[in-house]
Amino acid sequence: MSCIFCEIVAGRAEASVVHEDDDVMAFMDIRPWTSGHLLVVPKRHAVGLADLEPADGQKVFATGQRIARVMRGGDSSAEGVNLFLADGVVAGQEVFHVHLHVLPRRRGDGFGLRGIPRSPGRAELDKTAAALRPLLR
Ligand code: AMP
Ligand code: ZN
Repeated sequence: MSCIFCEIVAGRAEASVVHEDDDVMAFMDIRPWTSGHLLVVPKRHAVGLADLEPADGQKVFATGQRIARVMRGGDSSAEGVNLFLADGVVAGQEVFHVHLHVLPRRRGDGFGLRGIPRSPGRAELDKTAAALRPLLR
């Protein structure tokens, strides 16, 4: 069973690496949604959020945040940044080694998240919150 991102981490598949340390790697997305789109991955293989060590999740997010701050600074600065993570097929996950997308945004770049917001009442919001709250204790 081969995982393309494990192959990249191991140096057996090519990647345009932006950052590497003991725990995470960041490299350019091969099919960018916006110019500069990159991915941050934990070096230890995890399919998704369920089997990702929380410490690795923290490192992935911290690296994504650091890169986003760099993207917002300097001369070729992005006007904004989206962080995006697809967990599961229904959420759009195609590579089953967890990864955080970091997307520099500029006005008119053509990228957008589709979604039609609903307008649930407070009772429905409270009910959903009440169902989740005990699971988080
Ligand atoms: P997702 O739909 O969140 O699983 O996204 C997978 C992402 O991985 C896509 O944006 C792909 O373009 C990207 N991708 C797949 N293979 C490679 C690769 N070998 N190097 C860099 N990015 C890749
Ligand atoms: Zn992997």
